[in-house]
Amino acid sequence: MSETIVSAAAGPAAPTTGALRPLGLGAVTLDPDGLLGAWQQRNAEATLPHCVEQLEATGTTDNLRRIVGESDAPAFRGMWFADSDVHKTLEAAAWELARRPDDRLAEFVEATTALLERVQDPDGYLNSYFQGDHRDRQWAEPVWSHELYCAGHLIQAAVAASRSGTAAGTRLLAVARRFADLLVERYGAGGSAGEAVCGHPEIETALVELYRTTGHRPYLDLAARFVDLRGRGLLGDDPKFGPQYYQDHAPVREATEVTGHAVRQLYLLAGVVDVAVETGDTSLLDAAVRLWESAFGTKTYLTGAHGSRHRDEAFGDPYELPPDRAYAETCAAIASFSWNWRMLLATGGHRYADELERVLYNGIACSTSLDGRHFFYSNPLQLRTGHDGSHEDAPSQRLPWYSCACCPPNLARLVASLQAYTATVTDAGVQLHLYAAGTIATPHGTVAVATDYPWDGRVTLTVTPSDPGSVWTLALRIPGWCTAATLDGAPVGGEYAEVTRAWQPGDTVVLELAMPPRLVTGHPRVDAVRGCAALLRGPLVYCLEQTDLPDDVLVDDVTLDLDAPVEAGPGDGATVVLTARGSHHPAGGAPLYAPPGRVAGTPVRLTAVPYFRWANREPGAMRVWIPATT
Ligand SMILES: [Zn+2]
Repeated sequence: MSETIVSAAAGPAAPTTGALRPLGLGAVTLDPDGLLGAWQQRNAEATLPHCVEQLEATGTTDNLRRIVGESDAPAFRGMWFADSDVHKTLEAAAWELARRPDDRLAEFVEATTALLERVQDPDGYLNSYFQGDHRDRQWAEPVWSHELYCAGHLIQAAVAASRSGTAAGTRLLAVARRFADLLVERYGAGGSAGEAVCGHPEIETALVELYRTTGHRPYLDLAARFVDLRGRGLLGDDPKFGPQYYQDHAPVREATEVTGHAVRQLYLLAGVVDVAVETGDTSLLDAAVRLWESAFGTKTYLTGAHGSRHRDEAFGDPYELPPDRAYAETCAAIASFSWNWRMLLATGGHRYADELERVLYNGIACSTSLDGRHFFYSNPLQLRTGHDGSHEDAPSQRLPWYSCACCPPNLARLVASLQAYTATVTDAGVQLHLYAAGTIATPHGTVAVATDYPWDGRVTLTVTPSDPGSVWTLALRIPGWCTAATLDGAPVGGEYAEVTRAWQPGDTVVLELAMPPRLVTGHPRVDAVRGCAALLRGPLVYCLEQTDLPDDVLVDDVTLDLDAPVEAGPGDGATVVLTARGSHHPAGGAPLYAPPGRVAGTPVRLTAVPYFRWANREPGAMRVWIPATT
């Protein structure tokens, strides 16, 4: 039996090589008074228990129980890949248990692990949809079955349970390994499945993570094989969406742009980086860099979200980024976060950290309500007055759960491990990428971070070196949006502000990131926002909500005066809101089409709130992109 090749207490995504090394799972503690720490606390107290409750309420856990006669539910309930919601919640619980003891969560992990042990077939297969009522279709429908997708989430749950040292971790890891061994036997070179891949990527990154935790090389080899086989037409030409939908139209090394179903594309790319790093395959990493430039050069929303097409939950053409019809699925935003973290670790590239921050504070944060129990699945950048929000595909408010419930447990697993994504280490020193109040313990020393970020750009770092007098470098990311930064009062530029010194206990460094309100416009080819501007401050995108306007002024009818100053001031819940001067151009009753010209405007004061907080007061129209007053 091989042995773990990463620290037993590693966090999510633990590459064995790369430009930067992640810190261990317990190395970073977020202060619950800070924004990220508060999100993590809300996740623990509200979102995660809510997910556990919903698994019961929707019959998702019962799907597994009925396989072993422990439920009298007459049929499988939910989406055919609903087992993955159990696995993701299990993963979230495991990461959370690494942060603090919680008897109820520990009981959930223990009971669910025991259930999975009982449900698993003797050969290792585990999928309650096919084990229950559809045994004849097992393995028969790789395009749509999601069998390897579900297996991937089971494996990730087990990796989390193992790394977080939960009591059930060893047993859950054994369950996952039995399934993974079956996959190696079946899908590996010479296996009975021949050359085959799953319609929904996910298994690739999971197998690499399992390899990292077990040291068992066949898992890595199988992940690499799945990456190599993809794009060779093995899934056939889907008559509705085409092979681009599941990235089977071109091998990843030859693909020139991100395309198809956004979550599939982004999960695949996370797996591609994992395989590239562990196998030393630079051609794969080059492909990931090329596709990153496609994604972030032409197909990313201002909020960091991806996917403009509802019909196939897909990327659109380059620059096809309509704010009102943005699909921008929460899972795609989480997948982008995972991919960018892997790119950052592999290359040390500053731009990947910038994207981590953008999508975290906007595309991801927006999806959860302030109470932690309601969620957006799609995350548009505009909601029109009169929007039909009756369907869960594009609701006007966050909903407690979804018939396809992929997003809420995905949020839970990310936020439960959020502290692991804030900083990295090298032999030369410590790098801070995301600023959050808390404490970062590294082999070089401990860094205490005091900040009110993202509301304020002042970050005070107090260092306690492991070895007083040791010389190492503290590198502090200067976000791409920041044009004026100082370090201990002196202007600094570039990508990271670096301090190299012989550190003594109590040494303090102060980074100031100026964050005046700012305006941005879209690329000229983004037709949907031409003539518009958006308001931002620091890493946060802002939006207008109807509730902040007089009743007779619709948010659809206001324009923004670009030549007037935008001011920052206090808002609800210790937030910062922006106020700006605008014009009101009432357009109700105007003909749908008419000669050029605009109704004369009257002045109106505009209040913009952080996009991630919209739809928390009352339902109503919202917009990020505001037409400029002309
Ligand atoms: Zn989702």
